[in-house]
Amino acid sequence: DKMKKISVLLATNSDKAYQYLVPADFNIKKGMIVKAPFRSRELFGIIWDDSDEKIEKSKLKEIIDYYPQFIFSNDRIKFIKFMSNYNYSNLGKILKLFIPQSYLLEKKKPYLKYRFDEKNYEKIRKTSSRDRIKKVFINDKCFSLKEIVDETKVSRSVIRDLINKKCLAPSSFRGELDINFKNISKVDLNDHQKKSRDKINKSISDNKYNCFLIDGVTGSGKTEVYFEAVEKSLSKKKQSLILLPEISLTADLFKRIESRFGIKPVMWHSNLSKGKRKDIWQDIFTGDSKLIIGARSSLFLPFKNLGLIVVDEEHDITYKQQEGVIYNARDMAISLGFHEMATVVLVSATPSLETIYNINKGKYSKLSLPKRIGKAKLPLINFIDMRDEDYKNQEWISEALKGEIKKSLLNNEQALIFLNRRGYAPLTLCRKCGSRLECPKCDSYLVEHKYNLKLICHQCGFSIKSTKDCNSCNSKNSLIAYGPGVERVTEEIKSYFPNSRVESLSSDNSTKSNKILSDMKNGLVDILVGTQIISKGHHFPSLTCVGVIDADLGMANGDLRAAERTYQLLHQVAGRAGREDREGKAFLQTYFPNHPVIQSLIKGTRDEFIETELSIRKKNKLPPYGKLASIILSDKDEEKIISFCTVLKRNVPSVKDVSVLGPAPASITKVRGRLRYRFLVKANKNINIQKFLYLWTNNLKKPSSIRMSIDIDPYYFL
Ligand code: ADP
Ligand code: ZN
Ligand code: ZN
Repeated sequence: DKMKKISVLLATNSDKAYQYLVPADFNIKKGMIVKAPFRSRELFGIIWDDSDEKIEKSKLKEIIDYYPQFIFSNDRIKFIKFMSNYNYSNLGKILKLFIPQSYLLEKKKPYLKYRFDEKNYEKIRKTSSRDRIKKVFINDKCFSLKEIVDETKVSRSVIRDLINKKCLAPSSFRGELDINFKNISKVDLNDHQKKSRDKINKSISDNKYNCFLIDGVTGSGKTEVYFEAVEKSLSKKKQSLILLPEISLTADLFKRIESRFGIKPVMWHSNLSKGKRKDIWQDIFTGDSKLIIGARSSLFLPFKNLGLIVVDEEHDITYKQQEGVIYNARDMAISLGFHEMATVVLVSATPSLETIYNINKGKYSKLSLPKRIGKAKLPLINFIDMRDEDYKNQEWISEALKGEIKKSLLNNEQALIFLNRRGYAPLTLCRKCGSRLECPKCDSYLVEHKYNLKLICHQCGFSIKSTKDCNSCNSKNSLIAYGPGVERVTEEIKSYFPNSRVESLSSDNSTKSNKILSDMKNGLVDILVGTQIISKGHHFPSLTCVGVIDADLGMANGDLRAAERTYQLLHQVAGRAGREDREGKAFLQTYFPNHPVIQSLIKGTRDEFIETELSIRKKNKLPPYGKLASIILSDKDEEKIISFCTVLKRNVPSVKDVSVLGPAPASITKVRGRLRYRFLVKANKNINIQKFLYLWTNNLKKPSSIRMSIDIDPYYFL
């Protein structure tokens, strides 16, 4: 017989490998990418473990194409299996993350790079454009024709002429990186930085997996420390990946890397052209590209020999991917490092409780950078007690904050007004006594749902009819839905400061963001009002006054990380003030000045806050001391979904230390015409929650119109 069987895991929504035929003399390599016929389509996949399917050879189809240059390593295959297992998502869907588009596999146009030949250049006449070209070729770097044009803006004919005159000679070098290690410009690290660097670099030298946290306030030199780690990894000819929560933060980092290392790192994001994506993907596969910056999806690039993964702002919730396969990129990065024997470096000024927990357990090592570099001091944080302010309908800015903004403007400084728009459903509070409507069964607030006029607990489904009367102080008609929008606040600011330039920034007008941000940096904007977009990363030299309109709002989400996130967010926003020599101040408008979050921000007692939060989580067996999984079911037909939820509820397996809460309408109950219901699985730490989910849901016949999505370690309870 001339053919033999192989099995292939296809990059499509399926959990099993399918069998195909290949010529008998074909050298089977597990992990090799192949193209295979599937129903009426052609799909990519990789050669997989033997499957136990007993299908007759005569019924099998033949593989269409092979890609022996693209073989996934055993470590990558293990990582794919881990991702599938952990995130409760089928294998084919995970593989699709790794082979997202077919064009990535297409043959690259060969591209030629040139090096500069000094000797031949001596012999020819100099012109200014020729000299411009010469200048680009410092440090024996090599460039393609296109790169030379991009860098010098000299016409192609001039370059071709230099090629003909043998001043530019073809070079076989294809890589992006050509670092001259003697030419790196770097700072002298302080003792804390050195200590941190030494530990990380030892791990890289030893080719070991270790996970570190660089814990230090903004401006304490964290980035410089991980740059040293990047340098170490590069010197070992290994690849480094720097993960950022948002691609909008990459521009600054790109510039810093370019000036420090003299190389351009590879940026992986969705706006790349097909050709560029293909080049990058393949250069990473061959190991030619060695320094990559990207957001979540760069975890699935085909690294050849990873030495280092940096997760900057590790606490940031945007690392949680919510669509398609649901996963936490921070956690997957750690697992990738583990599977590839790479060193992982988490970086944050406000680390997540999960990370602190893992440090306390001895799973990760903490490296502290306790002080800011140079003169800049951390901003002073203060609160404005809104209970002292006269309540005025539709006004959100206190007299006290108005006064502070005025002071800054008089000093020719700038102000930033922050409003956390998170939470679609507004918070309901009593304007007489300040109390909020809480669930009697859970430690969470009730959230108003306009669509069915109910106040619902998002944890357990408890609900009451919407009301205007306060139960705590028995006032009639005193409950108000609290929730100004950023535009409304901007209007209000404009009315107080008609002669100042006021700009507002949110994801609704993010197309204008570059202009507004650069105007703000250059002092052309007096007051910037904005949402989370302005909370991180930006450095505004003359900003001294930060006002937070509603410091309590983030706490109203009713999810377990509310306090933690509010702390991180407010700390970050406050940290925009006073980043140079002028002192910064931040003011938090609050109805709860004694709330532990507000108090620890003001006193700067982060570690005590973390300890208290951890002890609350421990008491309630919530993450990181327990496990959660959320199941969201959606359908256009409410009856259908309710009846399936009933079936699910009836079939909850009885397992010790696992409880299932719900079903409850999800807090955003209607999305794109679909109604959403959710269950929450709560389990002890020692429980294999994935196994429980399998036991529960695997044998139930789900109506095909109902969509079910499972979220392990949910962050959003919407
Ligand atoms: P972080 O990442 O903690 O915000 P950075 O690494 O960006 O801090 O450092 C803040 C600023 O201080 C940067 O301009 C950086 O180049 C500079 N810097 C960091 N470490 C040192 C040092 N040891 N000596 C002098 N300048 C430093
Ligand atoms: Zn409840
Ligand atoms: Zn009241």
